[in-house]
Amino acid sequence: MSVKSTTWQKELAASLDDPAQLDLKAATLRRMRRVTKIFPLRISPHVLSLIDPKNTRCPIRRQVIPSIRELDQNGSPDPLDEEPCRVGPGLVQRFNDRLLALVSANCPVNCRHCNRKRNWRKAGNLAGPEDIARWLSGRRKIREVILSGGEPLLLSDRQLDKLLEAARSSKQIEIVRIHSRAPFSLPSRITSDLLRVLKRHQPLWMITQFNHARELSTQADQALKRLRGAGIPVLNQAVLLRGVNDSVSAQVQLGRALVSNGVKPHYLFQLDRASGTLHFQVPVKRAMQLIGRLQRNYSGLLVPHLVIDLPGREGKVPISPSAFVRSTKTGVLLKGSAGRTIHYQDTLEQPQTDDSPCSYLSNDG
Ligand code: SF4
Repeated sequence: MSVKSTTWQKELAASLDDPAQLDLKAATLRRMRRVTKIFPLRISPHVLSLIDPKNTRCPIRRQVIPSIRELDQNGSPDPLDEEPCRVGPGLVQRFNDRLLALVSANCPVNCRHCNRKRNWRKAGNLAGPEDIARWLSGRRKIREVILSGGEPLLLSDRQLDKLLEAARSSKQIEIVRIHSRAPFSLPSRITSDLLRVLKRHQPLWMITQFNHARELSTQADQALKRLRGAGIPVLNQAVLLRGVNDSVSAQVQLGRALVSNGVKPHYLFQLDRASGTLHFQVPVKRAMQLIGRLQRNYSGLLVPHLVIDLPGREGKVPISPSAFVRSTKTGVLLKGSAGRTIHYQDTLEQPQTDDSPCSYLSNDG
């Protein structure tokens, strides 16, 4: 199916970015404005249409409607220590063989659990094609380039074409991947013109983020089919989010919805403890129990690897008995990839709270 190139831009322009556009009571609106002054609101019309207005526990609503709990001062603005690992404009090197290029500041939807929400108001320098090509030149150890942001697919086809060319400008590069939430948040972005650009730069990997089966709408299914039809392999990296997908049934439904679209559930990330996201954190012990139940009872194709991304160069480690050193009063000690023992601050198990039903789209809790 061909999708017009202009549809997505029109849709993006119609995104909701003022809490007053939500149907809120005055007191709720005042609270929400306190949050959005720090962490702005943005929801594409497509995502808004997926929220169940009658369900205060709607998993999409929880991910995109601001909560007063985002004002909690704990957590870090930069939980992965990306800023000290900056090696150029928008360029981050946390691993010997990989370069992360932050190429876009904006997204069709501001996910409330985002680990880069520090960049929503002030993104800093972004990486352009020349920055990537210049930095890669002569650096033989780098084998992989990751285009991320923000949402890379909000760039024009022409900009993406140049970025992908730059990512391949050194002959030792084996893997180029794009991290994108657009198949969920703006599926109309997967146009025929975009696919032509992506095809020119194969082999290319698309890493999506779907966190709940409800995100796989008819339009998202079609976007994934178009990507796969263009020969682009798609893997999914979900984030484990309290009240969204922290149950066996939610994970199984997500896995099934992904696999039926030919997408492998790859990673399930323990929350990066970014400021304004801690209400989504699931205790490590419960995360391990959840993944254990999935591994014992369901096809391996449905089950992602449960991992935790430790700050700086320690990187991703599987949450498993081999990485687990011991519990402490405030968290757990985990062995990082570089061999150091790192403290990850855990959260307490808490009963699920219902958000206040005072307004059908508000997240007051
Ligand atoms: S799409 Fe990704 S970068 Fe953008 S707000 Fe969501 S999690 Fe953050």
